[in-house]
Amino acid sequence: QPRTAPSNMNSMESENLPRRFAFDGPMGDVIEQHLNDDIRSARLSRKFKIYYRLRPWLPIFLRQRLQRKRNRGMEVDADWYLPKDFIHDWRQAVSDVLAQQSAETLVIHPWPEPYQFASVLTHDVETWEGVKLVPALAELEEKLGFRSAWNFIPYKYNIDAGMLDDLAARGHEIGIHGYNHDGRLFESRGTFNRRSGPINDALDRYRSIGFRAPMVHRNLTWLQQLNIQYDASCFDVDPFQAMPGGVGSPWPMIVGRFVELPYTLPQDHTLLIALGETTPRIWIDKLAYLRRMSAMAMLITHPDYLDTQTRLNVYHAFLEHLSEQSDCWFALPKDVADWWRQRDASRIDSATNQITGPASSQGRPIALRELFVQSDSHDHRTHS
Ligand SMILES: [Zn+2]
Repeated sequence: QPRTAPSNMNSMESENLPRRFAFDGPMGDVIEQHLNDDIRSARLSRKFKIYYRLRPWLPIFLRQRLQRKRNRGMEVDADWYLPKDFIHDWRQAVSDVLAQQSAETLVIHPWPEPYQFASVLTHDVETWEGVKLVPALAELEEKLGFRSAWNFIPYKYNIDAGMLDDLAARGHEIGIHGYNHDGRLFESRGTFNRRSGPINDALDRYRSIGFRAPMVHRNLTWLQQLNIQYDASCFDVDPFQAMPGGVGSPWPMIVGRFVELPYTLPQDHTLLIALGETTPRIWIDKLAYLRRMSAMAMLITHPDYLDTQTRLNVYHAFLEHLSEQSDCWFALPKDVADWWRQRDASRIDSATNQITGPASSQGRPIALRELFVQSDSHDHRTHS
């Protein structure tokens, strides 16, 4: 397939950004290779570019019908929510490293003491209807002990500053979800440049440090223009997105000036609307995989789609299951980004086997064998 010169240049630029991964050596190489695959694939087809130009004139029922038709026409494997290519390469790299090590390899555990894995709840608020459903959804989470990040669109609907202050005062986080959600933020560098100033103003205005692009379109090079601590527009695997790709890796990574936090659980829209699931079984199964990988479970739901009792029940049932995971760090994205910086700036002293650097108080060294002994086995094997 021929590629045009500008997009080739974009992917080369992205590959030249300073990037640091959860692990070094062959394991880091696998993460890097899959990130590069995502950067090369993350483009919109001509059909979707035309669709986004026409979208403002299409009635909402027609947009939804087109989306449903596309989702139902998709052929996906039963385990589509697992990044199978990444898992294959990852297992190979881990077993190579374990086979070649002369002494026990120690790494900094991906998460602060005493946690085995992390979970992050996020919401993108798509419409004014969704804004009105925010307080009730926040209350549902709070009753189960959770707090979450709420990403608002700065130039689409009226944002009630009082509601944002209230969410923040109750321990939630506020993030920014694009510019006006028209699907055209990444259509050209010119468009992105024009919109990045107003997006930075909004980040400032709402005291936000995090960003997620609408429709999870992404260009990690252009996103460097935003004044953010983290971006959350990548995913490990999601065959239902208009912009294809998938970074495979379920851990945060440093990309240029920010921490990239990929979402790793399927979106509510995919499960509850496109696939018509009536239980959280897929979320629960993916969570078990993420736990085995000592990874980050990040979920995107939308108050706009959690608008029926049936859908709310599925979300509630998943949160109940999540709340039973006593080895899970229930974190806000800003806390994960902060921890990841500390971990990234720390090392294990080979003389003492202790952590030196900012993660020394909360982090812990762990043998690679111990960390990945479960994830290296097949997915449905029970604990030994
Ligand atoms: Zn959105």
